[in-house]
Amino acid sequence: MMNAISSNRRVFMLRVAAAGTVLGAATGARAQAKVDEADETAVALGYKHDTTKVDAKKYPAHSAEQKCHNCQFWQGSQTDAWAGCAMFGRKQIATNGWCTAWRKV
Ligand code: SF4
Repeated sequence: MMNAISSNRRVFMLRVAAAGTVLGAATGARAQAKVDEADETAVALGYKHDTTKVDAKKYPAHSAEQKCHNCQFWQGSQTDAWAGCAMFGRKQIATNGWCTAWRKV
């Protein structure tokens, strides 16, 4: 009887550990997802992966020196190619990107 309980408990613990591993992998994959310029939020904010591709006529206050890595909402380091941003939840944006929410650090 004790062996059956012990065995069931061991199986349960293995399943919990396996589920945690799968969940962790899924969370990691989601955290690494990059923003698509066609995403609703990206379009609404005029986001571009490359600040030099921003429409100057549509956004006259924009300048090419304004980039995600020198924006106060950039969550990465100065050497990260991609990082999080408060505007895009768990998705990542490009270091040389830009959107209308840009604010100087
Ligand atoms: Fe880049 Fe700043 Fe816009 Fe975020 S808020 S996408 S860091 S310019």
